[in-house]
Formats: sequence, structure tokens, C-alpha cells
Amino acid sequence: MIGGYTAGPNRCAQLTSSTIQTTSLSKQITYLSFALATVLIASLAGFGWWAASNIDDRSIAREARAVNVGLAEIAQQLPVDQDTAAIWDDAVTNLRAGNQPWIADNLADWMSSYFGHDRVYILDAQNLPVRAVENGMAVEGLYQQDRTVLAPLVTALREQMADAASGLTDSTEAVTGLGVRDLVVLPGNRPALVSVRPIVPSSAEVQQAPGSEFLHISLRLVGQSVAAEIGERFEVRDLAFESSAEATDERIAAPLLNAQNRIVGFFTWVPDEPAYELIRDTAPAVGGGVAIGALAVIMLLGRLRRTSTLLEDSKAQASFLAFHDALTGIPNRALFEDRLEQALANRRRTGASLALHYIDLDRFKHVNDTLGHPAGDELIRRGAKRLAALVDEVDTVARLGGDEFAIIQFEVADVQAALALGQKIVAAFEPPFDIAGSEARVGASVGVAVASDSATTAEDLMRQADIALYEAKDNGRARCQLFAGELDDAVREKRALEMDLRAALKSDGGLHLVYQPIFSTHSGAVVGAEALVRWAHRERGPLPPASFIGLAEERGLIGQLGMWVLGEACRYAVSSQVPWVAVNASPLQFRDERFADRVFAVLDETGLEARRLEIEITEGLLLQNSPMVQDTLMRLRARGIRIALDDFGTGYSSISYLRNHGVDKLKIDQSFTAQLGRNSEIDGIVRSIIDLGRAMHMGVTAEGVETEAQRMLLGEMGCNQLQGYLLAKPMTPVDLERMLAAKATGATGGGQARPMAG
Ligand code: C2E
Ligand code: MG
Ligand code: MG
Repeated sequence: MIGGYTAGPNRCAQLTSSTIQTTSLSKQITYLSFALATVLIASLAGFGWWAASNIDDRSIAREARAVNVGLAEIAQQLPVDQDTAAIWDDAVTNLRAGNQPWIADNLADWMSSYFGHDRVYILDAQNLPVRAVENGMAVEGLYQQDRTVLAPLVTALREQMADAASGLTDSTEAVTGLGVRDLVVLPGNRPALVSVRPIVPSSAEVQQAPGSEFLHISLRLVGQSVAAEIGERFEVRDLAFESSAEATDERIAAPLLNAQNRIVGFFTWVPDEPAYELIRDTAPAVGGGVAIGALAVIMLLGRLRRTSTLLEDSKAQASFLAFHDALTGIPNRALFEDRLEQALANRRRTGASLALHYIDLDRFKHVNDTLGHPAGDELIRRGAKRLAALVDEVDTVARLGGDEFAIIQFEVADVQAALALGQKIVAAFEPPFDIAGSEARVGASVGVAVASDSATTAEDLMRQADIALYEAKDNGRARCQLFAGELDDAVREKRALEMDLRAALKSDGGLHLVYQPIFSTHSGAVVGAEALVRWAHRERGPLPPASFIGLAEERGLIGQLGMWVLGEACRYAVSSQVPWVAVNASPLQFRDERFADRVFAVLDETGLEARRLEIEITEGLLLQNSPMVQDTLMRLRARGIRIALDDFGTGYSSISYLRNHGVDKLKIDQSFTAQLGRNSEIDGIVRSIIDLGRAMHMGVTAEGVETEAQRMLLGEMGCNQLQGYLLAKPMTPVDLERMLAAKATGATGGGQARPMAG
């Protein structure tokens, strides 16, 4: 099958071979066209040649006929010429009188010179020559030479005349009009046309007794003069008469036969070949035309071939691209799935074992973010090469998308062999990549599934490899994990949620922000609002941050989520009257050394003043005591952004950490607030936090204020700001705007925030 496409275990190879087939198809078309054109030209030329020689043959036949006709006309003319003198009273009387001068002037010599009869003989009743003339001149004894040849003709005529006139006294009427003609060969091998006529009176005044008649013989030698005469009359070129001749390329030779079918000589001439001449005359022009035509055909074919080759190439390329990854050139997901299906089908027939490896690059996103997308692309290309170097030729390495790869490993002896390749993959990604002068470190997590029984479907195997990969990542990345069994429900659930969150971050997937106002303890005014993320899940309904923040951190999505929240909150704040917004940042976001730059970029993009942004961090971050974190915090504060320490008191941050890192505000964790007034120890802790804040020139906000008693107590202790359900629950931006507007006009909108008494 040509150019066709059949699914097979080696689809790629088939694509290639079909490309070769289609390329040779274009060659075949070209050769065929050439062959056709050649056959066409050859048959045209052949037909032309045949037609031309046919025309020329006919022309020659016509010329031969013309020569015959010319000769016959000359033969017929002889008696006609003779009659001008041979039917005449005077001729008879002068012959009887033997008047030689008269005979010469009117019958013999004259006739020879006037009509060009080569020889003229006058015979008496006894057939004896009265006068013999050659070329107008009387020649003695001439008749004796020709007599043997002419005698039979004379005898024949005499017999006719005797027959016609038998029993008559006057033969005139009976013999007038009789005559004998022939083509003879005279001695000396000279062919001649001969006409013998009786000489008869023209009136009744002269009478002739039968047998007493004189005869008149005229001859025309068949030679150059006859040939010239015929040639001129019938336009036969260079007509000649030769006693012997052979046809040549230039001359035609036609034999002249006598009555006995003996060859007496040959007429030869240069044939008129109109077709040949036409061809010869037009050959340069026709040849030129044919050459130009052939050139045009060749160019056209060449172009056709180039076009069809291009077309086939682009077709081949299109089908290559349809089954290969554009970045790396290795099979894509479609081809991978097809090959896996084929491999499993093959396995069912032959029992050949195979393993599937799913590979996910760890920290690839980090490379993309820090070194840029071109570097990320380069890393993917090199990663693909490292993978390809690990496998046998029969194995398939495919890119499934992003930083995910898959390997179909054939001829796997046992589970150990599969695991060995998995380990090799992990090891292959340990050395850093040198990309554009930077060292990029990524690891590879590998999930391995081995087709264990013949009922295993591609779908099963892919799911198993996927679960194994998930576990490899869960167990700390940069490791290889063999599929151990199906996931339990909780893990499966978590997996599904992760997928949904990825999708939600990519498009509008129900993520949104609510804002919880923070109040001044002293005036009861809204001093700011904390942005809190919510997720209206399509199937699960509204989800609290607790159900997906941890997941986002675990699955490497927190950076993306955090930046989305920051952008959203800043955009809102710019258009709102709220004095500032607080945005929670996960400790993991600070692992990105460009975190501060990203925050600044958001400020620049949204136009929010830095002093209107507060970033809430947790104690855990300070505990890392990392110079990079310290630097990031310093840069954020230098720009004018305030840093609040969230959930203060639940961790173990020491005063020295607070001093080293520079924090603007402490947020007392709601677990303390909840026990205020009920547990004197807690009261003491809260009081000392507030004192600490004051001593270090930091603001203090109490979270989770739910009761009037808590509010009173916190006020008494000197806490500046309050946040809690008692005052306001997290609300939509629209509700917050409404509350801010109501407060500005002095109304007690929402009714919950009241200035503290005293
Ligand atoms: P958080 O930063 O300490 O936020 C305060 C939490 O306390 C919020 O819960 C808030 O609704 C709740 N709350 C406020 N007043 C009261 C009260 O009077 N009584 C009680 N019982 N709770 C009160 P939420 O919104 O469920 O957030 C939980 C945690 O999720 C947050 O604690 C924060 O750590 C995290 N979170 C929320 N949004 C984000 C975010 O955008 N990024 C990050 N990284 N974390 C976030
Ligand atoms: Mg917070
Ligand atoms: Mg908190």
C-alpha cells in the first residue's frame, strides 16, 4: 500500500517507510511521464516518417506514370505527324514519279527536321527503301541496318492492308488509317518508337491498286532527347534514359519494357519528394520547436516533481508532527498510547513482558521560573536525550506533556529489571544541567508498573504507573517507586483534588477571595482587611483553605496560588477605601529567591502603594533562620510593605528571631484568644505578647475575637487591633465596601464593630 497508513507496533517506522514510498512515487510519476512523453514523441516522429515516405512513394509512382504517359504520347504523336504528309495526292504521284527532291522536301527530310523524327524511311511496294533519312539528312544504306528489326512490322502492316483491301481495285479507303506501332531495339542496342503508315491519296482523283502502296516509317530513338522532352512536359527532374542503371539514394531507375516484356533500358530521374523536402526545409524550425517543447516539458516535470516532493515532505512532516513532540522530536502522547496498546496486544499473543515508567521532573517549574522558558525548553530537550540514552532501541521514550515523560520498556525479564531501569533514570537526573551558563538542578521521580498478566489493559498499566509516580513524589521525590497496589480512598481523593486545583488555577475554576476586616481597638474603625482564599468547587461545594492550602504546598502549587491571591487582593485594594490588605504567604513561597521581585511586580502592575500591603508570615518561616528568607523580608520591608507574624504563640519563635528578621506586627493566635478570661496562665501569655510587641515597637492584633469579654480584656491589655467573628466575619468585597461606606457616614453598618468603651 502506498502512502497509506496502517496501525502497527512500529507506527513510527511505518510513517518513515511510507514517506520513502511516497517519495519514490513521485519519482515513478516523473519517470512514467518521461516515458510517456518519449513514447508520444517517438510515435509522432514514426508516424510522421511513415506518412512522409508514403507521400514520397506516391509522388515517385506518379512520376513513373508520367514518364510512361509521356512516352505513349510521343508514340501516338508519330502517326499523327506522319498523316500530315502521308495522306496526300501529291505524295502518291511524286513517289510514283520518283521525284526525289519533292520527296525530300515534303515527305522524308522535311518530316525528320520539322517533327524531329530521328529516322524516316519511305518504302516502295516491294518494301525497298525509296529514301532513308536520319536527323533531316539522307543516309545511304541506313535502312539496311534497321531492316531486320523493322521488317516484321512492315510485313504485319502489309498483311493488314491486304486483308482490308482484298477484292478491291482501289485500296485508298480501306487502308487509310491503318498503321503499326511498336517499341523496338535497333542494332547498337538503341530502343526506338516506330510507326509504319501507308501513304495514301487524299482525293478520288488519284487511285491505288492494292499492294502498290508506298509506306512511311518514322522512328524516334528513345534517348536523351525523348527523356528531356518528357521531363520538361511532366516536370520530372533530370529525367534521363540509360541502357543500364541502378536506383540510388538520389535517383530513381525505372526499367522500360517492350511488348515482349524485355527490358530495353532505364529511365532515371531525381525524384520529387515533397514530404522529405518539407521535413528537410522545416527541420531546423520543427527541431527547435520540439527542443523547446521538450525543455518546457522537462522543466514542467521537474517543477511538478519538486512540488510533489515538497507536498509529500510536508505531508510526512505533518504526520510526523501529529505523532511526535515538537520540542524534543520524540513520540507524543498519541503515539505513546498507540504503541502501548500494540505492545500489550503483542504481549497477549507472545507473552513478551513489558514495563511502563512514568517520569516527572522535580522542581522543573522552578527552573522555568528562575531561568526563563527558553532554558526550561532546553532542559526538556536535554532531559529527553538523557532518557533516550538509557533505553534499548526497541523501547519507546515519549513526552506526555510539560515535564512528564514515559518509557515503554520491552523484554523485561523480571520486576528487578524494571526497577533497575527506574533507578538508572533517577540517577541520570542527578547531575545538574548546564544551561546557558547556569546550573539547573532537577530530579526525576519515577513510577514503574509491570504488565503482570495478560488481562492488563493500557489503561490499567497507565493508572498503575501514575499511582507509583504519585507515591514516589509523596515519599520525597527523586526516587523510583514500583506500583504496590491501588491507592486507598483518601489518597485517591487527594489526588483528584490536586487535579481539580491545577485545573482551577489554569482557568476560572471557582477560586475567589473574601475579606475579614480588622478593627482599631481604640476607635472601632476598620483599619484593614485580611484576604482569605475560598474555593467554590464545582462538585464538592465551598471548600475552606484548610482543605487545599496544605495540598497546594505539598503538590508544588502554592507559589502559583499565592501569586494569584496577591494579585487579586492588590487589585481589589486599589479600587477600595480599605486602608490596607493583609495577604497570607506560605513559608514555601519564600523558597523562591525571586519572591520579593514577584511581589514588587504585582504592586507595579496593580498600582497599589506598598504601605497598603501587609504580608502575613508564620513562625515556622522564621525558624528556618535562612539568610535568603531574611534578605527577602528585608527587601519587602524596605519597599514599605509591612510584615505580620501570624498565629503568634503556636510556634517557637524566640525574641532573637523577631529581632533578626524584622517584623512589623504580631497576630495573637485565636487559640489564645479563645481561652482569655478562663485561664489565668493564658491571660499572662497574651499580656506578655502585647507587652513584647509594645517593647519592640510592633503592632499587635488579636485574632478570633468572638465575645465581648475577650474584646474588653484585650482592650485593657493594650492590644491595638482586633479581628474576629464578634466584629465581622470574612465577607465578599461588595459587602466590605458596603460596610466601609456605612462607617464613613457614621451608621453602624453590620452592627458588630463598636469602639471599645473607655
Ligand atoms: P489565618 O491567617 O490565621 O486566618 C484567620 C482564620 O481564622 C480564617 O480562617 C478566619 O476565617 C478565621 N477566623 C476569623 N475570625 C474568627 C473567629 O472569631 N472565630 C474563629 N473560630 N475563626 C475566626 P480561614 O479563612 O479558614 O483560614 C484558615 C487559614 O488558612 C488562615 O489562617 C491561613 O493560614 C490560611 N489561609 C487562608 N487564606 C490563605 C491564603 O490566601 N494563602 C495562604 N498561604 N494561606 C491562607
Ligand atoms: Mg492570616
Ligand atoms: Mg491566624
